[in-house]
Amino acid sequence: MKKTTRILLTALLLCGAQALYACSSNAITTPPDTSALARWQAGATVSAEAVEAFGGVDKCFAADPIPDGVWARMQGKTYKENPYIGRDDLRHVRALHWDYDGQIHLGEMVCNKLIADRLVRILRQLYDARYPIQRMLLPDVYGADDETQMRANNSSCFCYRAVAGTKVLSKHARGLAVDINTLYNPYYKDRADGTRYVQPATAAQYCDRTGDFPYKIDHHDLCYRLFREAGFEWGGDWRTCKDFQHFELKE
Ligand SMILES: [Zn+2]
Repeated sequence: MKKTTRILLTALLLCGAQALYACSSNAITTPPDTSALARWQAGATVSAEAVEAFGGVDKCFAADPIPDGVWARMQGKTYKENPYIGRDDLRHVRALHWDYDGQIHLGEMVCNKLIADRLVRILRQLYDARYPIQRMLLPDVYGADDETQMRANNSSCFCYRAVAGTKVLSKHARGLAVDINTLYNPYYKDRADGTRYVQPATAAQYCDRTGDFPYKIDHHDLCYRLFREAGFEWGGDWRTCKDFQHFELKE
């Protein structure tokens, strides 16, 4: 083989190798899609790579003043004009959570600033433990209708409303109570006439806590332990009714 031909062939081979390298390294370095994280699109799922590219898990857990967009979404739904609680009393919490699907979900809650830091800490510990939470959307998505969001197994905190069937303000009305995996951890009260009032109405089978089922909160549950350690009481411990989804700040 002539020397010039050899040089030409070597050059061609090198070019080919470079092209291959460029191709494969391109496939590796294509940046993951972080747009759902940048917009904090609650309800979306993201990959672990996207979370890393966004700045890491730490950046996905925070409590901030209520952003304008969130405040606008709350009006006439979870927020109603009232003399007790205003925008400055509330915080917007961002968190990641796992469900049984093995995917990372984006969640958000609105809570009282008094519990914001510990709520973020609890949600972070639940995430690190891969504790399953199906949905963490603002109740505004469901028109702030509690029955509807519970049927959807939504987890949430602030909603300006009275305790069902009374004029007493709920702890949710001050953003001091958190409901977790609400369909599987219902509220119920046995009436004097022997009938049972259940919320959500579709959760009657989950009032029986003797069996094992997904999302069940009991005294062995991590969620129960973390809220208790942070100064909350559990509605599952109440005597006259049971509210297994409910953790409220002890005052
Ligand atoms: Zn509740």
